[in-house]
Amino acid sequence: MDRLRKQQWMFSLAYVVAAALALYFFQAAIATPAPRRVSYSQFWSEVRAGRVTAVHVTEREFVGALKSDPSRRKRELIAATRLPGIDETALIKELEGRGVDLSGRIEVRSWWTELFLVWLLPLLVLGLIWGYGMRRMAQGAGPLSFGRNRAKIYDDSSRIEVTFADVAGIDEAKAELQEIVDFLKNPQKYQRLGGRIPKGVLLVGPPGTGKTLLARAVAGEAKVPFFSISGSEFVEMFVGLGAARVRDLFEQAKQKAPCIVFIDELDAIGKSRSAGRGLIMSHDEREQTLNQLLVEMDGFDSSKGVIIMGATNTPEVLDPALLRAGRFDRQVVIDRPDLQGREAILAVHARKLKLAPDVDLHKIAARTPGMVGADLANIANEAALLAARRGAERVEMRDFEEAIDRVMLGLEKKSRVMTDAEKRRVAYHEAGHALVALSLPHADPVHRLSIIPRTVGALGHMLQLPTQERYLMTRPQLEDQIAVMLGGRAAEDIVYDGEVSTGAADDLHRATELARQMVTRFGMSERLGHLTYGNPLASQFLKGPFQFEERNYSERTAEMIDDEVRAILDGLYAKVKRILATRRPDLERVVARLLEKETLDAQELRALVSAPVAASSPA
Ligand code: ADP
Ligand code: MG
Ligand code: ZN
Repeated sequence: MDRLRKQQWMFSLAYVVAAALALYFFQAAIATPAPRRVSYSQFWSEVRAGRVTAVHVTEREFVGALKSDPSRRKRELIAATRLPGIDETALIKELEGRGVDLSGRIEVRSWWTELFLVWLLPLLVLGLIWGYGMRRMAQGAGPLSFGRNRAKIYDDSSRIEVTFADVAGIDEAKAELQEIVDFLKNPQKYQRLGGRIPKGVLLVGPPGTGKTLLARAVAGEAKVPFFSISGSEFVEMFVGLGAARVRDLFEQAKQKAPCIVFIDELDAIGKSRSAGRGLIMSHDEREQTLNQLLVEMDGFDSSKGVIIMGATNTPEVLDPALLRAGRFDRQVVIDRPDLQGREAILAVHARKLKLAPDVDLHKIAARTPGMVGADLANIANEAALLAARRGAERVEMRDFEEAIDRVMLGLEKKSRVMTDAEKRRVAYHEAGHALVALSLPHADPVHRLSIIPRTVGALGHMLQLPTQERYLMTRPQLEDQIAVMLGGRAAEDIVYDGEVSTGAADDLHRATELARQMVTRFGMSERLGHLTYGNPLASQFLKGPFQFEERNYSERTAEMIDDEVRAILDGLYAKVKRILATRRPDLERVVARLLEKETLDAQELRALVSAPVAASSPA
């Protein structure tokens, strides 16, 4: 009840402000202009001067309309109080004689009408709306949701075009869902033997891996209606609406069985009830919605043919009650696609494009490790747009190359003016990264070197290309990776004699982060042993820049961690400086060429550097 009070208060307050504003503008628009008050004799001298075109006689006053002056928008009115006890017949006669319109057509409303129209009526309407809102809230719904027309938001796309053929690279997940498709197509077959079909299937995987797509494809394959709602749509201001929507959704679905009910971004409603307060959605709202969902999931049996699918990228935060048997009891994990998977996904999206014969999807897949289906779809689309802009007939390999760069690095910004000195510094920085990468046995091969600024990120870039998918990283690999990150700063340090620049900020941040993880998470420091420090799970609730870590170690350990991280970085930095110092002639040659050409590819680079280039050995 307390919550209701507070809500009603907030609503009333906001409402009064809004109503006052509305009333003000309404009156400004509708109210008749007040006539200018003049004296009795002034009024009649205006009449005699022939400036009055119409006169309205009321019980108390004469109101006269002056001849309209074209420069003014509104016509001007004057009013004079009638004098008591004076015979006005002569005056009226005179008005008639002058042809002044006396029929009282001047639109001046009576005092009463004015009051009613301008004040009472709007107040009445506003009051009614307010009352309605308060009542709705007391009933546990949003104040301004009118009835149940919200139900329209469910996307009952009975004719979904998406099928399994549109989903690639996640064959295990597809195989698992095939069973659901079979069941939806032919429920009797499964029930004959008394088996129970899973009620809820939860798709778990990183964003953009195709969870939403896959759910639609299941409906498309089985040719059943697909009701979908997204957890983020439940972000409502007022309590109760979310629960009402869940109820609606399931009611509609039951009438259309067999069908699929898909709850996208389940974590937005299904967060563990003990977890921290939601930042956007109020705690209560989420809890009510979640409870309603649990009730609905328990309240019907899947033999009716309604399958509930959910999708989330953070299963850890889901309330355990959701994952219990009888609810989302089956989980299908969707991973980032591997090399083959990426190629297959690219093939799906390339079907719609006109490709030139030089396009090698395998190569593109190799250049995009870690990317998910959504990224690849984006790249295919970008490439098509780039080709169109060139006015080309077909999409060529170079369009794909540029599209990948755009997605990974942002647009080229040739317009950004850098001084020659700055350019030279960037060239040393990037060449430093590249030479270190060429010198270390575990570093990924260099793919390209450039000093063309991009909208995202640095003033130049050095791209490495992993030779194959990595699932594990060894300690030497991590160390070499950090060393490559430090290469830019080290080159500046050597060439400019310690006068370093801000250009290495991002490199240093990433290097530090990686070194810290080696110490606190991977147990790769002798001094700190094979232990993990800090509880990274706590950071699941707040992603992005606000990562908090539950600290479960002492102040003294914290100091040791800092020392170890520092020792790793210092050691690697010294090593990198040694490498670059011995390869100074290479560095100068690469920089000279880079300043000339702005971009060097792997072959050009290799032609410039002297012999002992460490062979990159894949793990
Ligand atoms: P999620 O729901 O996992 O965040 P989506 O299903 O919304 O990802 O994927 C977004 C888009 O990316 C899809 O519409 C599709 O074009 C593309 N996509 C993602 N995964 C795949 C895949 N496995 N096969 C083909 N296309 C995919
Ligand atoms: Mg999605
Ligand atoms: Zn750098």
